[in-house]
Amino acid sequence: MKVCKFGGTSLANAEQIRKVCDIVLSDPDRRLVVVSAPGKRNKEDAKVTDLLIALAETALRGEDPAAALEAVVARFSAIAVDLGVHEAAAAIAEDLAKRVALSRNDRGRYLDSLKAAGEDNAARLVAAYLRSVGEEAHYVDPGEAGMLLTDEFGNAQVLPESYDRLASLAERTGLLLFPGFFGYTRGGEVATFPRGGSDITGSILAAAVRAEVYENWTDVDSVYAVNPALVSNPHPVAEITYREMRELAYAGFSVLHEEALSPAFQRAIPVNIRNTNNPTAKGTMIVKTRGNFEGTVTGIAGAKGFCSINMSKYLMNREVGFVMRVLAILADEGIPFEHMPSGIDSLSIILRQNVFPAEKEQVVLRRLRDELGIEDAAVERGLSVVMLVGEAMAHTVGVTARAATALAKAGVNLEIINQGASEISVMFGIREEYCNYAVKELYKEFFLK
Ligand code: ASP
Repeated sequence: MKVCKFGGTSLANAEQIRKVCDIVLSDPDRRLVVVSAPGKRNKEDAKVTDLLIALAETALRGEDPAAALEAVVARFSAIAVDLGVHEAAAAIAEDLAKRVALSRNDRGRYLDSLKAAGEDNAARLVAAYLRSVGEEAHYVDPGEAGMLLTDEFGNAQVLPESYDRLASLAERTGLLLFPGFFGYTRGGEVATFPRGGSDITGSILAAAVRAEVYENWTDVDSVYAVNPALVSNPHPVAEITYREMRELAYAGFSVLHEEALSPAFQRAIPVNIRNTNNPTAKGTMIVKTRGNFEGTVTGIAGAKGFCSINMSKYLMNREVGFVMRVLAILADEGIPFEHMPSGIDSLSIILRQNVFPAEKEQVVLRRLRDELGIEDAAVERGLSVVMLVGEAMAHTVGVTARAATALAKAGVNLEIINQGASEISVMFGIREEYCNYAVKELYKEFFLK
């Protein structure tokens, strides 16, 4: 059995949905199909999920939601009419009106019930269309199938018992249309994953039914070694490991949701990134181990929006438990950290700026001074991290030297260098304004020479 997930652009209109159905019907193993909500038809268009959020916000402000509701209904109706399944359009309008009328006492719960409507109705619509052309197709209700999530509304995580429950989907007959992005809490309430979370649904299902492959159908031919917005004709990546993909996703590769690899990885299900608009392209295979290495570096990524807390204290290295106490302050303030390069008497903690607003900065600096006697601590904002990633780097001497030399020649100052024990990635911390430039220079060095 193959699990296929189709992203928003693959569901954007009737023409795209017909392509999806052609792809599914062209391989009898493609039986469990996960869909996103209809996405953008063109650059200026709005995603259905964004329309639903706007609708929920309008209702939560106590304003008349009629116009916002009509925008979503119109989007779905146009698709349903175009596909010739008129009765589905009426059912969707009714479902949306019911959701809008739900209790607004809890903002998170209300938002999630509306956000989930995009995927839920998309799955019903595609199932109805497939039945109208004579296929056996069933909409699957995630609650009834056992997709149980934590009650962190808008940021839910799968509960471990879901896997055993969902496994029985493999025994059902016909084509199964499963809505992405949401599930139910133990208390029976709708909860959604973070934005882009239909990728996570697909991965969970692929792991649960122990699929032969998890096909993730999107709108690009493959993963590229570098962001295609920065480099023309970037090098396509035919095969990449989960670990490499994880590192690149961390630094901004947005092909797949960052949390989506974990379930497939746990059960070693290969993930195949494919293009709905070009189904003959083989795409990128994400696998556990690989033997073919074209070059040392697999991909290069850069992400902005980081900052560092730089601290130093004379004889820091002699104080047993010092780092633990620094990290305890961060944990106490609920601040996650990303990297922690250190010297004998100095320590830097790299964080994402969005978790470290100015008020938190004041509190943390004061606590470092008062509780640990660190007078010399300062925050540097406006950093980016540039990652060089490749399994083959671990067995190759001089990759970091080569990268550092290329960046030095390009006049980019390296503020931080960090290499993890796995040796599959090197991280450079540089000023944000040099981020894209550095990525391009590294790409030239490792892919164009
Ligand atoms: N429709 C949701 C979003 O736009 C989830 C998804 O597409 O994966 O975030």
